[in-house]
Amino acid sequence: MTGTIKAGLVGLGKIARDQHLPAIRKTDGIELVAVASRNAQGEGLHNYGALKDMLAGELDLDAVILCQPPQVRYEAARQALLAGKHVFLEKPPGATVSEVEALIDIAERQGVTLYASWHSRYAAAVGAAKSWLATRALKHVSIQWREDVRHWHPGQPWIWEAGGFGVFDPGINALSILTEIVSEPIALLSASLEVPANKQAPIGAELKMVAASGAPIEAVFDWRQTGPQTWDIAIETDGGSLLLSEGGNMLRLDGEVQVKAPDEEYPAMYRRFVRLIEDKAIDVDIAPLRLVADAFLCGEHRATAAFED
Ligand code: NAP
Repeated sequence: MTGTIKAGLVGLGKIARDQHLPAIRKTDGIELVAVASRNAQGEGLHNYGALKDMLAGELDLDAVILCQPPQVRYEAARQALLAGKHVFLEKPPGATVSEVEALIDIAERQGVTLYASWHSRYAAAVGAAKSWLATRALKHVSIQWREDVRHWHPGQPWIWEAGGFGVFDPGINALSILTEIVSEPIALLSASLEVPANKQAPIGAELKMVAASGAPIEAVFDWRQTGPQTWDIAIETDGGSLLLSEGGNMLRLDGEVQVKAPDEEYPAMYRRFVRLIEDKAIDVDIAPLRLVADAFLCGEHRATAAFED
């Protein structure tokens, strides 16, 4: 397309304000003109209470950015695609694998862009980690993703409800990096999910996976870590060891720091979204979501003490 892409954003909450608004302002080729949110208003923008009203009121809108919780993502994405809009999905792209596959089909038939964003894949050191791994054989992968849910997700009841993913909300970020940097298919073998007695979604999880080459992959996700937070992926190969830490923003090879840079994930994702629209392309990788779905499918559930957030 020619000219600046006019976008409308749905769900003006934490991630929209922290990341999307500043990233869109920094990106050439796209401009935010409207917001649809039930309880919030965007400054200097056309505001609506619902997506359907935004679609009816903004006839020249090109794209819709969906920043609500995953449980309501599908219906909104479907509406926007059927209205002929390009769609940017926050992660996770949906609450189920089947709804994301249905969205791909709708986007293909409509001839519009559908972008499933995985922000952690754009962390500063992920590209370098991927290149380094490409010429080495995997021996072992260990993921530790431990954070304090009370710090990162205050006042977010949806995250504890069915379809809210619980600790897999951050954990899927680790899986998005894993499936980006490891070029082999990854199979989930077993999982153990700790679910607080008063919640629907897990507070802790352990996953056992295996790469097609046979290399074991283990992951621990925990939401009860206070103090320093841990977002690490450690990989042993036939040609040395790699440690990605700080959520993918720091890379050590054989103990030596190679990359350490601040996170610029969202501006990179918006540059990608603009290019996808120019190319009339779809970019939806469901690999991280499929591993989470498999963990819920075969995971052993262990009840734990009630958790007050
Ligand atoms: P949030 O602030 O709790 O929710 C975003 C907005 O969605 C809310 O302000 C609300 O706006 C709307 N919303 C909430 N519950 C809804 C419901 N049941 N039905 C319809 N709309 C609802 O959440 P967030 O932290 O921004 O996360 C949103 C998405 O971004 C999630 O998928 C999350 O995984 C992803 N994400 C979050 C972060 C982060 O650091 N927080 C980082 C990366 C990605 P209105 O009430 O005004 O409609």
